[in-house]
Amino acid sequence: MGSSRASDDRRDDASDALDQERKRRLISAVARRVIERADELSALDAAIGDGDHGANMKRGFEAVLQDLDTLSAMSLPDLLKGVGMKLVAKVGGAAGPLYGTLFLALSKELPDAPSRAAAASGFGAAIAAVKARGKSDVGQKTMLDVLDPAFKAFVAGGDAASVREAAYLAADETVPMRATRGRASFLGERSVGHMDPGARSASLMIGAVCDELGG
Ligand code: ADP
Ligand code: MG
Repeated sequence: MGSSRASDDRRDDASDALDQERKRRLISAVARRVIERADELSALDAAIGDGDHGANMKRGFEAVLQDLDTLSAMSLPDLLKGVGMKLVAKVGGAAGPLYGTLFLALSKELPDAPSRAAAASGFGAAIAAVKARGKSDVGQKTMLDVLDPAFKAFVAGGDAASVREAAYLAADETVPMRATRGRASFLGERSVGHMDPGARSASLMIGAVCDELGG
């Protein structure tokens, strides 16, 4: 093999590896953020649900981390599909199928290298898929009350910091809401005054994505 050919090979490897490294950082940032905040998520769920949201999400994202090498070598659609399938299989409860649907819909909608416009339309379609799966909508004190405002901030042209801010603010704004979907709805008025655990986990995931892509 000639020396110039060898250096071309190295260059190709390096550019693939960079791309793969970025995917690896993105997946692990989201997974680690959820795992490190599992106790907080379970405490929120203990107040208005059955206290398992943190453990559910932790189990799912630990399984994702176990497949980090395989997942980060995949195209973006395949990676999203892999994460979605893991979440469906491992998280359980209400959140497993719903977050699974979110990632599986993103995998169908997003090309390998999405433009901002493609990312926005994919995110919008994935939120619609969650609504259909959950027979739910914005305003019912669920993860949708974070996903939708973050999506709107992104569509409005917001940068990573403002999308993250919108997500965190929206999670706070679930505190005074009354739950009309999910386990918390069984509490009726007593669901008021607590942050929705799924809204919190959605804000953590969006925050981690924004930190990674914006930084
Ligand atoms: P479970 O309620 O079965 O114990 P989790 O505790 O893992 O499941 O997840 C609860 C979260 O799932 C809620 O805080 C809420 O954000 C979300 N959720 C529940 N039902 C729905 C629904 N129909 N649509 C959207 N999100 C929902
Ligand atoms: Mg629960």
